[in-house]
Amino acid sequence: MNANAKTKTRKRLQSSKELGRVITEYYMKCTSAKSEGIPVGWMPPMNGVIELFYAMDLQPVFPENWSPVCAAFGLTPQNFTVSENMGYSRDLCGYLRNIIGYVHGMIDDKNSPFGGLPEPDLLLTPWGGCVPVMKIFHALERRFPEAKIFRGDLPQVPIEEINDDHIAYVISEMHRLVEFLSHATGRRLDLDRLRETVALSDQACALWDEIMTYRTCIPAPFSAAEMGIMFVMVTLQGTQTAVDYLTMVRDEVRQRAADGAGVIENETFRLFWDNIPLWYNMGLFNYFEAAGGVMVAETYSAAWSIRMDPSDPFRALALKTLYSYPMVSCVSISKRKEMVIKACRDYHIDGVILHRNKSCAPITLGQMAIKRQLEDELGIPSVIIDADHMDARNFSMAQFQTRADAFMEMLAAKKQHRAS
Ligand code: SF4
Repeated sequence: MNANAKTKTRKRLQSSKELGRVITEYYMKCTSAKSEGIPVGWMPPMNGVIELFYAMDLQPVFPENWSPVCAAFGLTPQNFTVSENMGYSRDLCGYLRNIIGYVHGMIDDKNSPFGGLPEPDLLLTPWGGCVPVMKIFHALERRFPEAKIFRGDLPQVPIEEINDDHIAYVISEMHRLVEFLSHATGRRLDLDRLRETVALSDQACALWDEIMTYRTCIPAPFSAAEMGIMFVMVTLQGTQTAVDYLTMVRDEVRQRAADGAGVIENETFRLFWDNIPLWYNMGLFNYFEAAGGVMVAETYSAAWSIRMDPSDPFRALALKTLYSYPMVSCVSISKRKEMVIKACRDYHIDGVILHRNKSCAPITLGQMAIKRQLEDELGIPSVIIDADHMDARNFSMAQFQTRADAFMEMLAAKKQHRAS
């Protein structure tokens, strides 16, 4: 394969292009919130706090989501310099190093993308996730001493072990959070409004699942190169904006599937990407296309495949909070193996790209076990790509090309052998 990977993805969906408007509007809302008297809360993603925020007319902000924005705009090197000069090791999660560098550096630069992030009035820490994400929020507490702090507690249990006690505990944490928000902001939660918000969230999840289902079609109507569409699942769940946008995506994808419109003219190999993308080089997803490979599925999209019952909104939010992060991480390696194997079956995968992510142990752990099981159970080969979701210094294009090219040649030889 001689094709040079581009730093930007080649997108085929019209609705992916429309995403720019949605992203701009979201960040404009974030920056204008303060002047409109709307309290701003910073929080980790993948939990049920976002729906509470929208139901109480508060503005949620996700520092983790800001990191891919920084990567896309080429701002991570300067943020890394700031955090590394403060003593944060290069071995730590790239999200952590980027956001710490940002809040101690360019946060006051109003020329930063979308006007930058507004400082938090509220910090919701550390509502689940991994140790680095908790540490990010501990550092943010020190950086923004004026912010009011809620320290949520979450049992970190594998999906298969979640029981009624865990659920009851997280429901009680949700109620404690509502009390905190009411006290801190003077706003009250209306239960009907919460039900509506959870119903919108559930509609977004249903649309998400339907969109992903069309990717099982051969040829696949879109690839991982369009994964930016999950922006609405991270930042806008529980809003009409997310539902409207995903409806547009669904309609376009459904039509492409009905027309048999694939990503490339001759889809020969269907590929699966394990782990987080390289946010500074999303063009890698297109790299495989020169050899007939299309990235039809990925680990990350599973995080949003959760249905929610609006008639019992606190339970729905508790379940989302408990399930979302373990759906993509190695809280349970056996569950993760099971999910990757199932995805490979559902999406008719020929080969798997295992991104061995230097700065994300929670998702990288267990990849060798996944590799073995893919071979043993499904006869699906895989290749390991050493890289980093945020730090381009931990990625070698030459090494990537050597491994990717050899892998695609091996897939081609395997196919030819089967045909003969
Ligand atoms: S899961 Fe990985 S990428 Fe996400 S915050 Fe934790 S270490 Fe970083």
